[in-house]
Amino acid sequence: MIAKSHPLYDTAARIAAGERLDERDGLLLAESDDLPLVGWLAHTVRERMHGDKVYYNINRHINPTNVCYVGCELCAYADDPNAPGTWSYTPEECVEMARRDFIPGTSEFHIVGGLHPRWKFPVYLDILRALKDAFPEVHLKAFTMVEIDFLAKIGKLSVPETIAALRDAGLDSCPGGGAEIFDETVREKIASKKMSSARWLEIAGLVHESGLKSNCTMLFGHIDEPRHWVDHLIRLREQQDRSGGFQCFIPLAFHPEGTKFADLPGPSLMQKLKVIALSRLMLDNIPHVKAYWVMLGREAAQLALRSGANDLDGTVTDERVTLAAGGSAGRGMGRDEIVAYIREVGLRPVLRDTLYNEIGQSA
Ligand code: SF4
Repeated sequence: MIAKSHPLYDTAARIAAGERLDERDGLLLAESDDLPLVGWLAHTVRERMHGDKVYYNINRHINPTNVCYVGCELCAYADDPNAPGTWSYTPEECVEMARRDFIPGTSEFHIVGGLHPRWKFPVYLDILRALKDAFPEVHLKAFTMVEIDFLAKIGKLSVPETIAALRDAGLDSCPGGGAEIFDETVREKIASKKMSSARWLEIAGLVHESGLKSNCTMLFGHIDEPRHWVDHLIRLREQQDRSGGFQCFIPLAFHPEGTKFADLPGPSLMQKLKVIALSRLMLDNIPHVKAYWVMLGREAAQLALRSGANDLDGTVTDERVTLAAGGSAGRGMGRDEIVAYIREVGLRPVLRDTLYNEIGQSA
């Protein structure tokens, strides 16, 4: 029972009735200091949608290059071609890497990288083709909206033509990175040279129109404020109303180390759980909310499973983006470890593929 005098009383009543929350509800939730209540409300919605299931998959990250010309202020991952420690793998090297530590049952390669100033469009097609030829059973989830926009430019094609060419080469779906924060004032400070928020949403719509699914993200815990989270979630919800292809929302906890914001502390545990819960409550039309353990940290991600999240991502072999920004979780988790980790919070692990088809119950 929530006291009638509680600031979230009306919002909680709307949640119980399954009604869509508006901006005012979002702000009340985002600014509330009653995290146990906000987390519990999100958990009730997550239970209504998914019961006690927590989805995970067996996946591997492949980052073909960390060379990027853009220079986003928020990024600790990318560098210019001559900097020490950069890499640019050939299609054959991508295959070799994937083969070297291939885990039986791997169902997905998650492929993202920098915008290489010297690579031409066919390089990206060759990477997809080589991986698809070598691993025909593995789903290729590749290239953010930022990369697709870039590939269209260097390939001198329209975005739909670019997506069609990528699909022909083996692309199966797209990841959700690059959305950062849609609020233009904040975006200008953390990713001043990156594509606009409107363009990110437009390309996501074109990906969905082509018949492919994608994910979506929000980078939080830097110079953002709760009102920016609400604005971001509402813009995603509106896009989903229009194009319907987002499968999963992934809140990405900012890691400041090595970025232009290295003096910031990064998000607190309270912020991480608040954003997970808020996402589940606002995004009534996006089926899954992911506790991306690599960026949240293992303990926060486990708590997030009881604050609105119903997906954990996967084993995540060879994650390098968060590692570059001081993340310590990016060395991968074994399948048994994931299963035990989910069961520890009283929930049921369910192995899935990228499109959320259930492959089996826990090991
Ligand atoms: S965030 Fe992406 S686009 Fe920006 S510098 Fe890093 S790799 Fe390049």
